[in-house]
Amino acid sequence: MTSFDYDLFTIGIGSGGTRASRIAAGHGAKVAAAEAYRIGGTCVIRGCVPKKLMVYASHFASDFADAEGFGWTVKGATFDWHTLIANKDREIARLSGAYRKGLETAGVAIFEERATITGPNNVRLSSGQEITARTILIATGGKPWLPDDLPGIEHTITSNEVFHLPKLPKRVIVAGGGYIALEFACIFRGLGAEVTLVYRGDQILRGFDGDVRAHLRREMEAKGIRVITNAVFTGLEDKGGEKVAYTTNGLELRADCILMAVGRVADTDGLGLERAGVETVGEGRAVKVDHFSRSSVPSIYAVGDVTNRINLTPVAIREGHAFADTVFGGKPTSCDHSDVPTAVFTTPEIGTVGLSEEMARKGGHSLAIYKSVFRPMKHTLSGRETRTLMKLVVDAQSDRVLGCHIVGADAAEMIQCVGIAIKMKATKADFDATMALHPSAAEELVTMRTRSA
Ligand code: NDP
Repeated sequence: MTSFDYDLFTIGIGSGGTRASRIAAGHGAKVAAAEAYRIGGTCVIRGCVPKKLMVYASHFASDFADAEGFGWTVKGATFDWHTLIANKDREIARLSGAYRKGLETAGVAIFEERATITGPNNVRLSSGQEITARTILIATGGKPWLPDDLPGIEHTITSNEVFHLPKLPKRVIVAGGGYIALEFACIFRGLGAEVTLVYRGDQILRGFDGDVRAHLRREMEAKGIRVITNAVFTGLEDKGGEKVAYTTNGLELRADCILMAVGRVADTDGLGLERAGVETVGEGRAVKVDHFSRSSVPSIYAVGDVTNRINLTPVAIREGHAFADTVFGGKPTSCDHSDVPTAVFTTPEIGTVGLSEEMARKGGHSLAIYKSVFRPMKHTLSGRETRTLMKLVVDAQSDRVLGCHIVGADAAEMIQCVGIAIKMKATKADFDATMALHPSAAEELVTMRTRSA
């Protein structure tokens, strides 16, 4: 029998790679993992975690203003970008260290260098070291996509750079209408910048429920974000430090910073996939996998964003865990990709699980729609003009709740719990039978009596 250096070699120490490596080691496998950048991956180093810390930072200005309605006087509050970035970096370093410690404790050997696949069971490190492994796991994640043919693209930044800007820009242009574009548009606006969003379609957040898309746009515009739709850049210039963007609808926009958030692609460049015979799909060259995350090469698997299934951290973690249980735990497990709750950390936040009204209709369901738009209690005293949206998409025949959509404060926290009910196939009658918790915003979810459609 051939002997290998390791049972498992994981490429990429992010959310998926870490979970897979630790669980595999727990099942008794001899595991090594390589990371070319920083241990923790996109989520920890330059994604979910630092982003959420910046979202918190962006809420304080409006919280101070709201406080006045409750009798507080907040004078002389100022914001310091450097303090935020330094504190955020300290927390990220701590988390990265915790990831390392977790792997080391599990007995995983760590190589902090780039790894390339040279065969079905072979990996070469950038130091030149050759390693063999019975199984290789690709968990390299994704990276920002940029339209390289756009004149002046070098004057823009992506979500990779946004966490380390030398100072808070006063004016920001954001390109895109998805998660990252909208989250950063709201972060910068909350921190006081003048923000313009340029999106190619006619409504932001394609794929989300139509009411959610319209509601969020109204709220963002009410906060002073300029939303330009049906437009893309035709060219960009840097005029002595000032960035100028020209758009297809004839606008000339000026800012201190242009953030491109027009999608992400699988990080597979230079990984050696062709040589090893690993098939990819789509223009983004994601690794093609089956239900058990196995690629076209039987000894090579892939989990997380590099497979472009559902590009969310908890999904990568589940996929990594399922892979380890399947290959090393003797328990074939596939990750369930249905009814995944997700949040967009805009201000206000979006929380959503299950089908949108549009998707449910397309799927042939006859629907009962329940909707509530209301002023959150806190703002009866703060005076802020903001509204929360809650919506239930119900199958009229079976009474099953197919989708729940929330735009408002704490939507992410609420939708995690609603996700359990949806996963358990709860009906509208189950929601109605649940006692309301008063006073809360979430009580609306169990007190919607009248169909809006
Ligand atoms: P998204 O796919 O969410 O959004 C990309 C945006 O760019 C869309 O609005 C898209 O428009 C637009 N776009 C694509 N190509 C072009 C082009 N050629 N010119 C102009 N606009 C273009 O990607 P993100 O990069 O924002 O995020 C990537 C993924 O990461 C998300 O889908 C999500 O899975 C994950 N993520 C999750 C977060 C969370 O959980 N809170 C936060 C951040 C990211 P169109 O819709 O018309 O195609």
